[in-house]
Amino acid sequence: MIKPKLIQQFIVEPGSDVNLKKYVTDWTETEEAQELGKDAIKERAAEILAESRKQLDAAQELLYASDTHSVLLIFQAMDAAGKDGTIRHVMSGVNPQGCQVFSFKKPSAEELDHNFLWRYMKALPERGRIGIFNRSYYEDVLVVKVHPEWLGPGQPAKPDGKFWQQRYEDINNFEKHLARNGTLVLKFFLHLSKGEQKKRFLERLNNPEKHWKFSGADMAEREHWKDYQKAFEEALGATSTKRAPWYVIPADRKYVARALVADIVVTAIQDLKLEFPKVSEETMTRLDVARVQLEGKSNEGKPEA
Ligand code: ATP
Ligand code: MG
Repeated sequence: MIKPKLIQQFIVEPGSDVNLKKYVTDWTETEEAQELGKDAIKERAAEILAESRKQLDAAQELLYASDTHSVLLIFQAMDAAGKDGTIRHVMSGVNPQGCQVFSFKKPSAEELDHNFLWRYMKALPERGRIGIFNRSYYEDVLVVKVHPEWLGPGQPAKPDGKFWQQRYEDINNFEKHLARNGTLVLKFFLHLSKGEQKKRFLERLNNPEKHWKFSGADMAEREHWKDYQKAFEEALGATSTKRAPWYVIPADRKYVARALVADIVVTAIQDLKLEFPKVSEETMTRLDVARVQLEGKSNEGKPEA
């Protein structure tokens, strides 16, 4: 487990004025990391990821058995920050029946005809399950803030500050509703540097097996880098709450991002202090009877001599 004190630096203080430049994108460049050495960090990150995967599988089973809570993990980032890879690596040990991933793309005409939270509400995890939103309702205060012309019919052509404040408020109220109804919400912004994005785009262009990952739209959005960073800063500051915090995860090193996310998710679920349901005395008696019956038939199930 990673020390809570170390994790603390990645949490966005509710209501704070966020300056993303103050959050590292490459954690291995920090002083505390350099003391440890890069190789040691890579090794330790792999260990943490492996440990966390096992613990996450057990935590999900308990989540299912106790049937009182669900977990919603939200991933937001600039293109090529590693959302898909992080989700794949962190969740790879979990029973597939216990989790569900939804990836949100540009909304359809039908979706645009509803309130902006509608399509996400339909995808919320049921009790006992971990739901993952690969992009989420935060797109509606991020990409759409950068491109207000994508707001859809019936919306203001030039939304003002109040419009966005109201959306943040809607999101906070929505997450309050989720928390009150037993959903643990954790939000991850994979914080990538512009230089590392360039490197990853070039890798996609230079490797035929990665060509499919490259999209012209990604290049167009890169042009709006500053506007996106500003939209993230505003959204993160306005919507990080104690009940549904934002974590700014340094994403230039994939192994750092994966280990951090895995550790944060496991720790948060363990902090729910869930318990396996206790059976009644009557059921206990029935279990005892069944045990005695099975043990009495000691030859059953063995191949005949
Ligand atoms: P990858 O590129 O890794 O496969 P992705 O999440 O970038 O995954 P894409 O299909 O490339 O998937 O992009 C989805 C696009 O949909 C993004 O550009 C995103 O900003 C956009 N999008 C998502 N939600 C909304 C929304 N509510 N309004 C407008 N655009 C949205
Ligand atoms: Mg994309």
